Parts: sequence; C-alpha cells; structure tokens
Amino acid sequence: EHYLARIQQLDGTLNSFITVTQELALEQARAADARLADGSAGPLTGIPLAHKDLFCTRGVRTSCGSKMLDNFVAPYESTVTQRFIDAGAVTLGKTNMDEFAMGSSNESSFYGPVRNPWNQELIPGGSSGGSAAAVAARLCAAATGTDTGGSIRQPSGFTGLTGLKPTYGRVSRWGMIAYASSLDQAGPMARTAEDCALLLQAMAGFDERDSTSVEHPVPDYSAELNQPLQGLRVGLPKEYFGEGLDAGIANTIDQAVKQLQALGAEIREVSLPNAELAIPAYYVIASAEASSNLSRFDGVRYGYRCENPTDLMDLYLRSREEGFGAEVKRRIMVGTYALSAGYYDAYYLQAQKIRRLIKNDFLAAFEQVDVILSPTSPIPAFRIGEKIDDPVSLYLTDIYTITANLAGVPGVALPAGFANDLPVGMQLLGPYFSEPRLLNVAHQYQ
Ligand code: GLN
Repeated sequence: EHYLARIQQLDGTLNSFITVTQELALEQARAADARLADGSAGPLTGIPLAHKDLFCTRGVRTSCGSKMLDNFVAPYESTVTQRFIDAGAVTLGKTNMDEFAMGSSNESSFYGPVRNPWNQELIPGGSSGGSAAAVAARLCAAATGTDTGGSIRQPSGFTGLTGLKPTYGRVSRWGMIAYASSLDQAGPMARTAEDCALLLQAMAGFDERDSTSVEHPVPDYSAELNQPLQGLRVGLPKEYFGEGLDAGIANTIDQAVKQLQALGAEIREVSLPNAELAIPAYYVIASAEASSNLSRFDGVRYGYRCENPTDLMDLYLRSREEGFGAEVKRRIMVGTYALSAGYYDAYYLQAQKIRRLIKNDFLAAFEQVDVILSPTSPIPAFRIGEKIDDPVSLYLTDIYTITANLAGVPGVALPAGFANDLPVGMQLLGPYFSEPRLLNVAHQYQ
C-alpha cells in the first residue's frame, strides 16, 4: 500500500509505469502475509517489485513500449516473472521502456519519455528507464530490466542504482519479448549489490524452454559479499579513458579507483584493442536480429491491426507502418539491408568476425586481471529531447557497455559518486559466471 500510494502521488510526473497492477499487488501481498504466518516465506516473499514491460505477464498488458502491443494481454507468464511469483514477491506493475528496448534514453517509448528523479528535465537512461526511475524514486523496492547493449547498466548509472547484466545464458529469456536474441539478457536493478544478489538468486538457472539457457550450477550470490578485496586485480582499459569522456565523470572514476586501492585492490592497465569497432558491429548484429524477430508483428495473430485493410498486403504494410515507431523502423531497415543478398558478407559477416575479436580481447585481459573497471557512460544524463534528432550520437554513448553483450560476459553498474549533482555510474566487467565476484566488489565499494 505504501508503494502504491507513492506511485499514485509521484508517477504522474515521472511516467515510470505503463501499467500499475494494484489489485494483483494487494492479492499477492495478502498471499505473502499468509506465507509469513505459516513459515513458508523466503527472502523475497512480500517484496514489491516492478517488471520491465517486455516480460510476458499472464492476464496483464505487455506492451514492450510499443503501439504495436498496446492491446496485447499476455496469455502466459515469462520464466523470470514466474520465478518471482514462486518466491512470493509482489508485482506492482510494468515499467516504461524504449520501444522494443531500442534506445538509450527512454524517449522512443509509445507512452512518452520517463523523467530522471534526480533532475526531472533529464532522461533516466534506457532502455530500462522506467525500472530505473521507479527504483530511484522509491516507487518499488527493486525492479527487473534487460540489457542488450547496456539497458540495465546505463540507466542504473544515470539514476544511482546497482544493476547487473548476467553472463549470457544465465537467466532464461523465455517469455521475454526478443530484441536481439544473441545479446539479450535479463537482470536485477536495485539500490544495492546485496539486493541484486537476492534478486539474481531467484532469476538465475537453467530453463529447458530457452535453448540458450546454460546448465551451470547456480551459486549462492550472497555468500561472497563480505570477502575483503585484498589482492583483487582491477584492469583499466587504456582505450576507455581517452577523448570523449566527460571531465566530471573521469574525475569521479579516478576517486573510485583510489578508494578500491585503499580497500586492497591492485590497479593495472589492460588493453581491449578492438573496442573501437564494437559500436558499428553491435548496430549491425542487433539490427539484423531485430529485423528477423520483429517480422512476427504482422497484424494477423495479435497486436495492432490497421483499420479496413483492402487485402493481405495492405494489412501487413499498414499495420507495421502505423504500429511501429521511427527508431524501430530504422533498425528493421538497417537489419534487413545488412542481411540482404550481396551485403551479407560485407556487413553481417564482418560484424560477426569483430564480435569474435572482442571476445578474444576479453579472454586475454582476464588472464591479467579479475575485473575490468570503466564508467557506464561517457557523458552524464542529458536533457529530454536533446539528442532526439541525432540517433548516431545516441548510439555512440553505448561505447562502454556493448562490448560485454558482444562477448557475453557479465557486468555490474554501481554508483561511483557524484559529479555536478548527478550520480556517476561505474561499471565492473568480469569473466563468464563471475557474478559472485562482481557483486562482492560492488558490495565492498558501497
Ligand atoms: N542502446 C542500445 C540499443 O539501442 C542498447 C539497448 C538495450 O540494451 N536494450 O540497442
């Protein structure tokens, strides 16, 4: 009731929720009370959460931030949200997001932009901007997000949260509306690393319904939180601290590095020589996969359908023309072009080769260090509307986050400090399945 009242009071301005599930929340809260009384409660029983609006939730609208799915009520529950239901968590609602998770500022949503609670003129980041703003404004205790090229880590950085993108395959993608299937991964967004550990515990694990889900034992994510950082080897990629990095952010990260040193960490320079190729490779691969994934939205089986189609082709064309926003159409066109005969070798195949090189850069770096540290974004949160006409400058801000998705390695974003009265995010990347270590370092820093 406390959180529902806060949503009622504050979300008219913030716009972080697309749907508030008041009745469901109160019903689940009563069930949680019963579990507390009969002794079957776990650590998440009764904890009020919000879910990014691309997790299918049975009987609840699942819009993916798009007019295309504005009328879509999912007939089944995603694995991630089902696991939270099984743990006894409460669902407060579904959060705003960039349309089909394409964006870095939450401005491509059909439901309008989300405001950053730290300064309401500014974007909260994206694409999980609604989840970020909702947790930062204490409209929920924690939230889920998804990260294809930084959508958990970048908005966490802009709103002072801790957010974790797990190793690819760690969390089931079943029931999560696909953007770029080889890059998408769900994870927690919360106030602290400790909270992220509890949430990831519920989310992680093999799921036979997702063929890319990994059969790898799930450790106790809270067990190593309190380990001292003595001897931890932290790598600073030399390519990440050059031109284009905001001075206030650079300075805050500098201080954070000193604090880690004081906690016993050893700092080393490392190199990710192919990092500069990551953005072009990512936007070819992600758009190619999106163009294929989004072909299912044709106005026939579900979702938006145009009025009075004259024939089948008119139905397809107008439903997609009217149902998708500008950024989604841009990605579909780029992706279709990159996959078309004659261009496949020149773009898609090249991008896949770069992807392999980037993965190899990480494998080499992790022979020398335990974690890699960087800012989450080269620039601070910007004004709503400022970059809306310049998609490429928006794409360039993903520079620090997308390499982890291309390689499949896990990453955590956490608040490093403040610059110009705004939170500055710091990112730690680690080898495959090093989530316990990343959460440990984040917890010790906090
Ligand atoms: N900004 C990136 C994109 O638009 C990443 C988005 C995401 O991680 N979902 O593709």
